[in-house]
Order: sequence, then C-alpha cells, then structure tokens
Amino acid sequence: MENNHKIVFDEKIIKKYDKSGPRYTSYPTSIEFNDNFTQRDYRRWSRASNALNRPLSLYFHIPFCDTVCYYCGCNKIATKDRTRSMPYMEALKKEIVMQSMLFNKDKQVEQLHLGGGTPTFLNDGQLEDLITFTNKNFALKNDDSGEYSIEIDPREIGEQTLATLRELGFNRLSLGVQDFNYDVQVAVNRIQPINQTENAIKIGRDLKYHSISIDLIYGLPFQNIKSFSVTLDNIIRLSPDRVSVYNYAHLPKLFKPQRRINAATLPSPGEKLDILKMTIEKLHNAGYVYIGMDHFAKKTDELTIAQQNGTLQRNFQGYSTHANCDMIAMGLSSISNVGNTYSQNVRTEIEYYEKIEEGSLPIFRGIEFTGDDIVRQDIISQLICHLHLNTNIISKIYSINFWEYFKKEEADLLLMQKDGLLELDKNQITINSKGVLLIRNICMVFDAYLRKRQTTNFSKTI
Ligand code: SF4
Repeated sequence: MENNHKIVFDEKIIKKYDKSGPRYTSYPTSIEFNDNFTQRDYRRWSRASNALNRPLSLYFHIPFCDTVCYYCGCNKIATKDRTRSMPYMEALKKEIVMQSMLFNKDKQVEQLHLGGGTPTFLNDGQLEDLITFTNKNFALKNDDSGEYSIEIDPREIGEQTLATLRELGFNRLSLGVQDFNYDVQVAVNRIQPINQTENAIKIGRDLKYHSISIDLIYGLPFQNIKSFSVTLDNIIRLSPDRVSVYNYAHLPKLFKPQRRINAATLPSPGEKLDILKMTIEKLHNAGYVYIGMDHFAKKTDELTIAQQNGTLQRNFQGYSTHANCDMIAMGLSSISNVGNTYSQNVRTEIEYYEKIEEGSLPIFRGIEFTGDDIVRQDIISQLICHLHLNTNIISKIYSINFWEYFKKEEADLLLMQKDGLLELDKNQITINSKGVLLIRNICMVFDAYLRKRQTTNFSKTI
C-alpha cells in the first residue's frame, strides 16, 4: 500500500481536539499496571513464550546522565561520577543471567536496544563487556541482520566508541539533538554545537550504520518559527534517515528538572502549532514521509517500506519492523512485554540492587491482558501504523461482531467523521488527511481504561 499520509493542517479542528492523551507505545498504558502482577506471573508467561517460539527483543536501560536536560521527563540519574555505573553493570549482568535462564537458548535476538538515560555514559570497555556477556547468555545475531540500536549523545561520543559499537553489532544510531539554536540550548541546559552532531553522523555513515535517526523537540523555551526553521534546514542538510519531532509537554509538577524552565519563555500554543505546521511542510518538501505519531522517515528507509507493505509495528521503542518479539527489558524502570503481559522493573537504584542481590527479578508491577485488551491493542496498533482498519478482519480474528462490540465507540467515531477526521463504513475505518495528526485522539476512542478515567497525566496529543 502506497504511503499517502498527506496531512491537512486544520487549525480549528486541531484546537477542538486539543487534549492530553497517551502515545500508545503500549495498550493498556503503564498507568494500568498494578502490583498484583508478580515475578511468578512473569515466569509463567516466559514458559508459555518458549512453547510459541517467538523471537526475542532485548532492551537495556542505562539510567545515568552526565548533566540533566531541563525538559527531560525520563527516569534518569544525573551524576558526574562515572564509577556509579560499575555496581549497576554488575547488577544488570545478574539480571541478564536470571532472564536468560527463563528462555530457550536458541531463541534469536531479532532486536536489541540500549536506551536511557545516556547509554554512552558507559566507557568502551563497559559497552564491550555488556554485549559480550549478553552474547554468552542469549543468541545474538552475528550477521548484521538484526535491528540493533543505541541512543547516543553527540556531546560525548568519539570515533573510537562509534567504531567499537559497530564492531559489537550495533547497526542503528539514534541521536538526541532537540534544537540547534544556542539560546534554546542554554535554556534547556544542553549545549551541543552542530559540529558535534555533524561529526557523529559522518562517522556513523563511514562505519556503515544502516540507519541514523535524530530526535527534535518543538515547544521548548525561546523557540520560534524562524529559529526552528534554521534548525530544520540544518537537519535536512545532515540528511538523517529518520527524524522524530516530539511535542514538549511542560509538566513541572511531575518532572522536577522542568521547574528550571521559565514558563514565560515557552512559545504560545498558537506559535507551537505554527512551528509544527512549518516542520511538517519542510520535512515533506525535503522528501521525508510522515510515518505517523511524530515520526518521519526517508522514502527508502525500512520503516517507510514496512508501512507500505503493511508490516510496520509499534512497541516501547516506537515504530519497528521487528516488533513481533517477546521483549525482555532489563535495568531500572524498564518495561518488558512477554506473551500477553507487560511488566515493569523497580525505579530506584536501592530497590534494584536489593532485588537483584536476593536473586529476584526486579519486577514491581505489571498487567496480564484480558481478551478485551488484546482486541483493542490490535486495533490501536493498526490505526497508528497503517491509518486504516479492516473491521471485518478484526471480527473474524476475535470472533466478534465489530460494530456490535464497539457501539459506544461508533458514536464517537461518527462525530469524528462529521469533523472530517475519518471515514467509516461497514468494513473499514480510514483516517483522512485531516485526522492524521489527531491519530492519538482517534485511538483514545478505543481505550476502555481512558473511558473510565476522568483525568490524565498524559501529554497533549499535538
Ligand atoms: S534528555 Fe537524555 S541526556 Fe538529557 S537528561 Fe534526559 S535522559 Fe539524560
């Protein structure tokens, strides 16, 4: 299917649907996780996974950062003390052993991701040790065919580290940039001269990384349409394979570092919309395809191709071509998806070390999907990845009558149809160009938990 995700930017409609909502990297979302789910449940599901022979995806969370970016809402530990990583890596290795004992040794690791925090807080020796150790415990691919990615911080990565990572099997790089404008960088405490990013990309290309992606944020202090347009011109010149453009959610009550940002310096909601509109136009004119949900990719990128082939999927790392795996996530606060469950690790170093020392998996909460969760999860995933849903197929797979089952949802969808966001007929739901940017709102219609809740702590959908 050709990707024709043309976006019509209808300001009136966007303002009408301006509300908070999940990004749906999972359904049910993490606020539904509960502590009735224990490591016993996780172990049971890992046995079931072995019987199904699904491939694996491994995620390692490295929580340390040298300095804190004020916009950050991640779970991280800001420290200049690099030795803090040593006990953490020892504990992580113990968790790797515990996890590997639960899964068949011949399960291929299709996907590997190092995220954070800042994974490159680790030195080359630690990175090498981590991957070599992982390779002894899991079946990593050694033919460069897996999706092995790492988030790197261009401020602190050198040629040698990028070469080491490539030798270790990483073939995708994700670079945090956010904005090249100096005033914005000062205001968010992330000074990153453009030549650092440029060097990292050039070295990455020379080393034949398959894909390089850049993260940007709009809505940061002192940003305006003119300054962000210059940033985008530079991004287009650097020509990464993928660009993600996230909306900054200013939630200082929830995220302490954001209290260092002066709210008076933030662009107004109107300015933010203008920045978003300009961003979409610029990236489109430069040949990037809008994959959906903040993500753009070149026409030749495997995400774009997977979307055209109808094989694109979504998981905790965003869009993926290898998401049909059981995801084992290790390290602080990380979220696994094994069988019909999500489970999350404890969030503090102390709890993590305690659990690991007593020989327990550090899981503190999770959820086992109900039959209803599974249907809705499939629907949300298809809408996000393909902007289209064949309701007949859903009826067949889950032995339901789609429109009988989703009576309440149909009423909401009809209102959205009236606003031009989508087209409904007996057999399908198709998102229109006006609805592409509001896909989160459309997915929210199918979120049974959100229906029950009146308030949310999610970010704005646009
Ligand atoms: S944005 Fe990244 S580098 Fe900055 S504080 Fe957050 S996790 Fe650390």
